[in-house]
Amino acid sequence: MAEVDETSPESLTLWRCIGCGAMGNARECVGACDFKRAFVVDAVSHADLLEYFLNLNEFNENLREFAREVAAVTATAESFERALPDLRQRAKKLLARAPREKAPQAVPDDERAEIWLCAVCGMVEAPRDCLGICVRRTGDFVRAEDHDFLSARIASAREENRPLAALARQIGWSAPRPGQLERMREAARGAALTFSAG
Ligand SMILES: [Zn+2]
Ligand SMILES: [Zn+2]
Repeated sequence: MAEVDETSPESLTLWRCIGCGAMGNARECVGACDFKRAFVVDAVSHADLLEYFLNLNEFNENLREFAREVAAVTATAESFERALPDLRQRAKKLLARAPREKAPQAVPDDERAEIWLCAVCGMVEAPRDCLGICVRRTGDFVRAEDHDFLSARIASAREENRPLAALARQIGWSAPRPGQLERMREAARGAALTFSAG
């Protein structure tokens, strides 16, 4: 999927003082600097979100494929009854690989660092009143707006997941009594056709 690129933004490698929180990078300014304020989050927290997003996306893709198969076999009562045992197994296997229910949270505001990033040379500055001894650690950071964008993508992928996973659960954990098979087929078909249309 081409969209995934948007969720893997370029990271900024910056040093940060563990005492005062000053930040910067090794760029030397070329003269005509144009500093813009930005907020960044640490790349490790961003990577947690990205990993969750990719898993969820894959899960949704598999569920959509499952829905397409349900749509295909629910055309007649006979084909549905024949396919049901296999569908049930597949649904259980799929659901067992679901990403954990609790998505990782976006980095809270008070853990985001304010920096000044030069649009011309890429130099980063975030001066603070130093406490005397600066101890610099280098790490990777991602812009807060990219982080928030990914967080929003996770939220919509989770919305998308709900009805898809419900269909898989409906099939996976079903044990219809003889008279109920037709009702189940109709419900599954209705749901499956909705998803496979999109
Ligand atoms: Zn500059
Ligand atoms: Zn310092």
